[in-house]
Amino acid sequence: LSEPYFDKVSARLIRWIANEYLGTLPEATRLFMPPGAAPRFRRLDDGTWAYVAPRVGKVDDRWAALTEEGRDYMPRKGSPKQAAVIEALRAGEMRVAELGIEISGVSSVLKSLEAKGVVRVEKRRRMRGMGSATASSRDIENLTAGQREALAAIGEALDQAAAGEWVLRAGSAGGAANAAPAPVVVLDGVTGSGKTEVYLQAIRRVIDEGGSACVLVPEISLTPQTVGRFRSRFGDRVAVLHSRLSTGERFDQWSLIASGEARVVVGARSALFAPLRDVRLIVIDEEHESSYKQGSSPRYTSRDVAVKIASLRGAALVLGSASPAIETLHKCETGEWRRVVLPERASGKLLPPVQIVDLGQEFARGNKTMFSAALGDALKETVAAGDKAVLLLNRRGFASFLLCRECGFVPTCEQCSTSLTFHENRQGGFLMCHHCGHRFAVPPTCPECGSPYLRQLGPGTQFAYDQLRMLLGDDVPIIRMDADTTSTKGAHEKLLSEFAMADGGVLLGTQMIAKGLDFPDVTLAGVLIADTMLKLPDFRAPERTFQLIEQVAGRAGRAAKDGRVIVQTYWPDHPAIVAASRHDRAMFLSREMPVRDEMGYPPYMRMANVLLWGRDDRAVAAEAGKMRALIDAHVRAAGFARDWEVLGPSPCLLSRLRGTYRWHILVKSPAGTDIPGVLRGVFKERKPVTGVSAAVDVDPVDLF
Ligand code: ADP
Ligand code: ZN
Ligand code: ZN
Repeated sequence: LSEPYFDKVSARLIRWIANEYLGTLPEATRLFMPPGAAPRFRRLDDGTWAYVAPRVGKVDDRWAALTEEGRDYMPRKGSPKQAAVIEALRAGEMRVAELGIEISGVSSVLKSLEAKGVVRVEKRRRMRGMGSATASSRDIENLTAGQREALAAIGEALDQAAAGEWVLRAGSAGGAANAAPAPVVVLDGVTGSGKTEVYLQAIRRVIDEGGSACVLVPEISLTPQTVGRFRSRFGDRVAVLHSRLSTGERFDQWSLIASGEARVVVGARSALFAPLRDVRLIVIDEEHESSYKQGSSPRYTSRDVAVKIASLRGAALVLGSASPAIETLHKCETGEWRRVVLPERASGKLLPPVQIVDLGQEFARGNKTMFSAALGDALKETVAAGDKAVLLLNRRGFASFLLCRECGFVPTCEQCSTSLTFHENRQGGFLMCHHCGHRFAVPPTCPECGSPYLRQLGPGTQFAYDQLRMLLGDDVPIIRMDADTTSTKGAHEKLLSEFAMADGGVLLGTQMIAKGLDFPDVTLAGVLIADTMLKLPDFRAPERTFQLIEQVAGRAGRAAKDGRVIVQTYWPDHPAIVAASRHDRAMFLSREMPVRDEMGYPPYMRMANVLLWGRDDRAVAAEAGKMRALIDAHVRAAGFARDWEVLGPSPCLLSRLRGTYRWHILVKSPAGTDIPGVLRGVFKERKPVTGVSAAVDVDPVDLF
């Protein structure tokens, strides 16, 4: 019914993914199918099944060209259309569709010319998605010491992987102890340190040796800018896969890869499953990004799937970031993976200085706007000098929590060490911990400093935009980028190029502006309120805040001009903020790791988040209670009761979403244990009930 879409190794991967992330086999299989081209079956009234052909397929173009004889052919006087066609084709072959724009009824004209042997018409496959590109730029020759070291390490990993090192590791029980590191290289380089150049040169080697490479970049930074760097190095051998392409475009790119014509695929996380031939290298850029986690079933983690793919295919894996995930750093610490540090920008410029502004003090001084005096002045100076600024207002802090506007205090759950969120019902407001489900009364005044200004936090980008207009006046270009302004196709690129073309101005946006953007004339980067992320009731909040400030700092001063960074916060002495402002990761980790250890979070413990949802809150809660009992029973039966921890059920942070009520149960186990195995048992035994759905998120990146 269809061509084979994947090989035996992929079939093994599909089983592994379905098992590991508790997805169904069809869900896991779909990852490997050509975009939009999965065949389907429909049940007919008489009970038989009909095959429904996929709607997306290849498109052919018809091309017309003059034959040898055609060159000298003189059309008769009375047929001007024939003359026009021949005239047009003298300049070279053309698409029939294009000819048809100028010449009406071109098909029949071509038919008669074809019959005379003057013209040849042939079908050729059209490849949608990209125009053609020639490889025009060359490798940079003077690499920095760090870049050379990185290339050497990747070279070793490639040799190791090709020599079957992955297989040897899998053979030795547990793998790790005393073994050499796996063929995984963590490229730990500040923004602008030349990581991309390293990827490019490593890929060059792989291609020269007849292999192919897969490069993942965060969806949001899959801009023409990023893709262009790969295309200008490798030309048409680069295919691109991301969700902003149409299904037809993605289908054609997929086919280019399957045919072996494309040797490099650059794409979002789904590119992992592209049918590359003889893949030898997988690169994940900005590997700490949370968008590498799939949000729907199978809820896979790209990094872990990449390790699996690399091990099954004998490929090396490169993980690049200016702020690698704590889990990644931990693997380097234990010697399982290798780490290469690129401490300096390739331009030799230092990272910009970061200034922290205390919003509590600002408030005390009577400034009730979102812009501190320091940031306001810096913005005016920047704009006056004709330079550009990037301002980040993080809206991932959609949770509303209470914050003391004088001292920055936020109520937290002592047991879970995460922020309490604010809720309202008929009896009034209350606070809740979304990890363990405990509720607390709202204190009338700040328990820390006694201030009555204990308020909800979370202003939007529109509000910030209005205040920014008041601050800078009407003439300064201000470009707002958030979910609202980027919802249409191409809007994202359009806004970015608008900003690139402007003479000075401000780009104001949500976290989507923090990554990968390389505008040489940005000299100021600002974070309007770092706490919206810091205070999220999530154990990764400090890590995400640290990473975010690192990323934002990377936006400023990338070229000739020096940059600076201003971070506004109610919590100027939080370790994540202080450490980020000094670009001091060791300091951050020395505070964060003991907390992770004590509270039982990754990398020290493994987690799974069991989600239940439905339209009837009480039914969902009741099912969640039953689920908890079932999990307890299975954990006990497996003999894990002492080391495992089960928390909840409690309402999710997003307790109501699109008309459904959501509850969750948190399962923690010692690192490296088989959580999916135990939960598979739970789900096998559980009887599905109508109206309540259940799912598991293994190794969740957040607990919303
Ligand atoms: P990253 O991916 O780490 O952010 P890039 O690879 O984008 O860094 O490099 C930043 C800039 O420095 C780019 O413009 C790149 O062309 C340039 N660059 C990279 N390596 C070198 C080098 N060895 N010498 C000079 N310029 C370099
Ligand atoms: Zn206070
Ligand atoms: Zn709690």
